[in-house]
Amino acid sequence: MQETRSTCPYCGVGCGVIIQSEGTQITSVRGDPDHPANFGRLCSKGSTLHLTASAAVTQQTRLLQPLQRLRRGAMPQMVTWDAALQRATDAFARIVQEHGPDAVGFYVSGQLLTEDYYVFNKLAKGLIGTNNIDTNSRLCMSSAVAGYKKTLGADAPPACYDDVNHAQTLFIVGSNTAFAHPVLFRRIEDSKRANPALKIVVVDPRLTDTAGTADLHLQIQPGTDVMLFNGMLHLMLWEGWTHATYIAQHTNGFEELKATVRDYTPDNVAQTCGIRKEDLLEATRLFACSTATLSLYCQGLNQSSSGTAKNTALINLHLATGQIGKPGAGPFSLTGQPNAMGGREVGGLANLLSAHRDLSNPAHRAEVAALWGVDDVPSKPGKTAVEMFQAAADGEIKALWIACTNPAQSMPDQTTVRRALERAEFVVVQEAFATTATCAYADLLLPATTWGEKEGTVTNSERCISRVRAAVAAPGAARHDWGIAVNFAQRLEQALLHTGPSLFDYATPETIWNEHRESTRGRDLDITGLSYALLDAAPRQWPAPQGSQSKARLYEDGVFHTADGRAQFCNVVYKPVAEQREARYPFSLNTGRLRDQWHGMSRTGTLGRLFGHVREPALQMNPQDMARRLLKAGDLVHVTSKRGTIVVPVQPSAEQSMSQVFMAMHWGEEFISGLSASGQRLAGVNALTTSAVCPESKQPEFKHTAVKVLKAELPWTLLAMAWLPVDQALTARRQLQELMGEFAFATCVPFTGAAAPGAQERSGVLFRAAANEVLPAAVLDRLESILQLQGAEVLRYTDHKRGQRRSMRMHREGQDSLLDGFLLAGDTCAQHWISGLLQDELPAQRYGRAMLLAVSEPPVPVASKGKVVCSCFDVRDVAIQAQVKDCKGTDVQRLAAVQGALRCGTNCGSCVPELQRMVREAPIAA
Ligand code: SF4
Repeated sequence: MQETRSTCPYCGVGCGVIIQSEGTQITSVRGDPDHPANFGRLCSKGSTLHLTASAAVTQQTRLLQPLQRLRRGAMPQMVTWDAALQRATDAFARIVQEHGPDAVGFYVSGQLLTEDYYVFNKLAKGLIGTNNIDTNSRLCMSSAVAGYKKTLGADAPPACYDDVNHAQTLFIVGSNTAFAHPVLFRRIEDSKRANPALKIVVVDPRLTDTAGTADLHLQIQPGTDVMLFNGMLHLMLWEGWTHATYIAQHTNGFEELKATVRDYTPDNVAQTCGIRKEDLLEATRLFACSTATLSLYCQGLNQSSSGTAKNTALINLHLATGQIGKPGAGPFSLTGQPNAMGGREVGGLANLLSAHRDLSNPAHRAEVAALWGVDDVPSKPGKTAVEMFQAAADGEIKALWIACTNPAQSMPDQTTVRRALERAEFVVVQEAFATTATCAYADLLLPATTWGEKEGTVTNSERCISRVRAAVAAPGAARHDWGIAVNFAQRLEQALLHTGPSLFDYATPETIWNEHRESTRGRDLDITGLSYALLDAAPRQWPAPQGSQSKARLYEDGVFHTADGRAQFCNVVYKPVAEQREARYPFSLNTGRLRDQWHGMSRTGTLGRLFGHVREPALQMNPQDMARRLLKAGDLVHVTSKRGTIVVPVQPSAEQSMSQVFMAMHWGEEFISGLSASGQRLAGVNALTTSAVCPESKQPEFKHTAVKVLKAELPWTLLAMAWLPVDQALTARRQLQELMGEFAFATCVPFTGAAAPGAQERSGVLFRAAANEVLPAAVLDRLESILQLQGAEVLRYTDHKRGQRRSMRMHREGQDSLLDGFLLAGDTCAQHWISGLLQDELPAQRYGRAMLLAVSEPPVPVASKGKVVCSCFDVRDVAIQAQVKDCKGTDVQRLAAVQGALRCGTNCGSCVPELQRMVREAPIAA
């Protein structure tokens, strides 16, 4: 057995992991106790990484050979690497020569390593001569970049994780940290325990798990953050809570802002934001009067048509109160992706250049051209993500190279994105997983390595660079992302008749990183004092210039990265969301993360265990809104925006305010689909979202889309669930996904049961669907065949006249009969108890006839084990509720008692906020 230190590939916390492997197989993972981001902790996603890299998952989901399509829509065929790269080279060279360099575009990812990013950036801007390279970080971080640059002069988060321990007020805005950055949230919980005087203020339109732990929750209306921040500054001025000396010595532009915020009276702000004036005042006091205020913010600010304005308005508050440049204080943007920061460092966005240089600055372009050994870097701004796909849809961009990201799931306005992918003459998808929606549009599929197989570096939210290391060899013919880009670039150099030595003479990721390091010399993120050898010893924060130590926090001397060293107040005004609610679209749709899932779920979506917390796609709606519309939990609804419609079950959620609905960002076509009345395939939640962007950062507004919600009348319903051998379940899901287009609504997800004997060898697959009319028998036959519900041992019932079919597969285990799989077609009123028998693996022999009759109530009650709360120890809500009702004492004591008895929340801790809520809501034992 071998141990390899590396980094988690999911969120921007950037936790260190220790990977255990045997030969070619990763066998387990644990938190690295020496890594400064997590000190040994991992969340539910990080602690299951090894399960997503098992042989069974790899065989069924990974892209292991280069594949090509000679015709769109055809099955891809195997091709050699040599032929694949030559085809890509010929296509790109021809298009560049015929239409110019701006006819091609690269869309890359915050999941790539810094070295991968660097090569792609140089390939586009240095060799081809186009700035058409953007990244999915545009969907995540570009407003934070713009906000920092406009105010502090550089894209550099000034704070660090340790500041959580020094803060007296935590101001968490637009961030469900408990779900999105769980290990950082554990530090917040620790800090609150150690310092009960610490006040936590959460600003969020939803009552999230993070908001549930706050001392004060400002449940503002969507998009009203600038109104709130300007209103807080108004109050600070009125109350004399600003820091006049700091403002005078270290900033510019305060007088203009002062004049603007005069109009943001408490009455105005309270009314627009939908909060109480008392709460506004209290939040302002906690922010301004604490000895140290740390803001933590994320997509609620960034993913907005006012994203830059929101960021700068918040930073204004820190500058006005001097809450920056000291322990426990500062505006701290949390990066969503593991290496969004590294991408920013190498200039991997359409408007940036290496080492935080600006494309619009001629001196910066000349510096980069000199570093790269090219004549120049083009000055014309490149297309940002939304612009790039619009240009491809319009025929302006003719070739797209997509690496390590899934725009056919994650981009807003999927109709345009899919038109772009269809219209582009040549689409290359460089991917680790063959299962993403974007793969279906590729002319060329290039297999890439992924976590556990790659070497390089990433930078987390606190500017800390960590090494990523390979524990096992690349599977199949997969190659490293940097290597694919280098090989393509070298071929393209020849095709474009580049003279002189190759610009891409890299033998290892370290040689690339060394060139990147040199580009930072003298810049705000100077890392000339670092090396791979030093990073091998321990992760380091930037800046770390030659001869100096890393800096934990920035601007302690009050000198900023601006021409005169002073920070700049931004005079911003409140603008409402781009697409306001109106009579035809009366709901505000918000999107965001689930606790146990990551992005498009190409990796986390392979594990049934990570679906224990949220089992299936759903639209969350306030119970009162549901009651008014006569909707019950689980009813199917049409959710419609100006761009499209999806069909999805609705669930009541007290997290939502009235007139607001929420759907997780993860649910793409791979998991929820269907066919519209006009025959169009429904493309997940982003069929609805708007491509309206912030005018400065070009980041789309995922956090608000105006929608209407109407009950879907789809009377013919179907539910099929089955346990399948673990090495067949993912293949079965892919086959089922092909059937989803037969239904007006369909969802296909994995599930898991209790950690019963044999649980390692089998995996659950759930397929739910609905239609207007009875589906042809051939479709049901195919479904049964995929779920292994055919054969002599399967109990069957068919009523052709009523369009009903039921199949039950059982097996004997000792004295008991257990249900292995079932299909209920035409009528699913028995689903609640039959699915319980299957998923909880309960004895089923007493229910045989009732199951085939599919009666709505079972002859004997089924004792369901309930919904998973703690996925590490498979602890269900039923067990927790039973335990807590006997516990006495304070909430803290009752939680401790529950945890002591059941172990829930004692491993990764991701479920602790939910446990706290359950304890709070449970009646106290007499
Ligand atoms: Fe990975 Fe979880 Fe750490 Fe984020 S918090 S880096 S997802 S282990």
